[in-house]
Amino acid sequence: MIQVTKSATEPAILGRRGTRHLRQLEQLYTADPAACRAPENTRLKSRDGIYNDATVKEQLRLDQHKKCCYCESLFTATSYGDVEHFRPKAGYQQDWRGPLSKPGYYWLAYEWTNLLFSCQLCNQEYKGNYFPLRDPATRALMHTEALNREQALLLHPALDNPALHITFVQDAIKALDDRGEASIQAFGLDRPDLIKSRLDRLKELFYARIVGALKFMAPLEEREQEFLTELGLSVAEGKEAAAEARQIWQEAALDPAEYAGMVRANFPHLPQH
Ligand SMILES: [Zn+2]
Repeated sequence: MIQVTKSATEPAILGRRGTRHLRQLEQLYTADPAACRAPENTRLKSRDGIYNDATVKEQLRLDQHKKCCYCESLFTATSYGDVEHFRPKAGYQQDWRGPLSKPGYYWLAYEWTNLLFSCQLCNQEYKGNYFPLRDPATRALMHTEALNREQALLLHPALDNPALHITFVQDAIKALDDRGEASIQAFGLDRPDLIKSRLDRLKELFYARIVGALKFMAPLEEREQEFLTELGLSVAEGKEAAAEARQIWQEAALDPAEYAGMVRANFPHLPQH
């Protein structure tokens, strides 16, 4: 996880159709708060096609360099991602896998700062409606209540700096405090398939570091000659491969790179911007 910078201008649909529908949600709540708080009720349903409109998705994808805001896996053709509400819109759980309370943060359904783009695993299999507060008594329960009393335990990818709460030792993720711990659990950042992907990335970088150190200047060193022979490359092609490997290594901690958070923790001297 790294801190993402979201564009200051929100997609226009949120201000137009989003604001209109938000007024309806507010009226619905004000008309019958008890009914909106009843378990299982779906009165304050946000409207599909507004918060997850193609223009919103595209802006979030660009802002996040086509990576999940939580696990930093790159989206692919088979993992295309969801628009995710940091504060859950339809209901919330204070405790991990605990009971669902209603309503959720319905008034943030179309709020740009509350929207992120995440992979299906982080969102659906893990975080879901989990949104623990340090003090549950401070929770805002309706649109007229202030959010600034809440101290969220989960790290907001755009508003918090995850590096202050989470670190990595090689591919293993470590919490530095209770917010880091809650976030690792909530987003499933220690799930085995993700650890495997991070390890693969580390191996790729070690390989890039080794190949990037080859110069291919005459007379060739023994390891350089071996490299060319084994891969059937010319000297020029070897130089090209080495230059490519140096670039992969130099760019590994930049925002667009996959698992940049892990790379930064392991190799703090690499350029981050
Ligand atoms: Zn993810």
